[in-house]
Amino acid sequence: MERRVVDILGICIDDVTMAETLAAIEAYIAEGGPHQITTVNPEFVVEAQRNAPFRVVLEGCDLALPDGIGLLWAARVLGQSLRERVAGSDLVPAVARLSARRGYRLYLLGAAPGVAERAAENLVRDCPGLQIAGTYAGSPSPCEEDDIVARIVAADPDVLFVAYGAPRQDLWIYRNLHRLGVPVCMGVGGTFDFIAGVAVRAPLWMRRMGLEWLHRLWRQPWRWRRMLALPRFVALVAAQRLSLGARRL
Ligand code: UDP
Repeated sequence: MERRVVDILGICIDDVTMAETLAAIEAYIAEGGPHQITTVNPEFVVEAQRNAPFRVVLEGCDLALPDGIGLLWAARVLGQSLRERVAGSDLVPAVARLSARRGYRLYLLGAAPGVAERAAENLVRDCPGLQIAGTYAGSPSPCEEDDIVARIVAADPDVLFVAYGAPRQDLWIYRNLHRLGVPVCMGVGGTFDFIAGVAVRAPLWMRRMGLEWLHRLWRQPWRWRRMLALPRFVALVAAQRLSLGARRL
């Protein structure tokens, strides 16, 4: 698949729609080799400025989805365009629906004990016929890595969702991608919590207005320190815009 990407602060984000993302996932599974998808938001981009291993993951992945509304804003400010926000939290149920139709098997790794199982039950309830290859909480700690990889290899899924929070989940996938051999591997952050009903997602009107980040801050105020990345992101994008303008003079 030919990629059309937008460079935001040195990170390439794919300009894809939800429909194109689902088509890419079908192509990856048909192709068979391992692929990594990341769900990039402004926090990712700021983290990648100082976290070189994470930057390598974002550079090396097969698809870097525009998960945060801030990226669409930044693309516009930088004279480019990202057509659509493709959020991991929307993609997981969409992949489940696709999988029920196509017979793909999902593995849900991560989140607190019991949450991945509950999320899997809810997905199966909503997508009759969906096959779950396995669920496991585990932890991103290196001493568990071999055991977890062995479990997933034995389950042989088509799609692996990992909920260990960014950037840990994405580094975990990147390290293990080739020995896992799963066609589609994606870090999904708090998505299992939403699907299992242990966390509440922003109402649709807030998502449509691009205010999902505000809802998260309100529901999970302890995230404020991480969210300091947002004003930093705005300042860095403004600086990149100014330097672009200066070069064009
Ligand atoms: N999580 C986990 N083990 C860890 C750290 C996090 O299972 O060591 C899970 C946590 O329970 C949650 C998910 O990772 O379900 C994502 O956390 P968070 O909401 O912080 O991630 P984000 O969506 O911001 O990437």
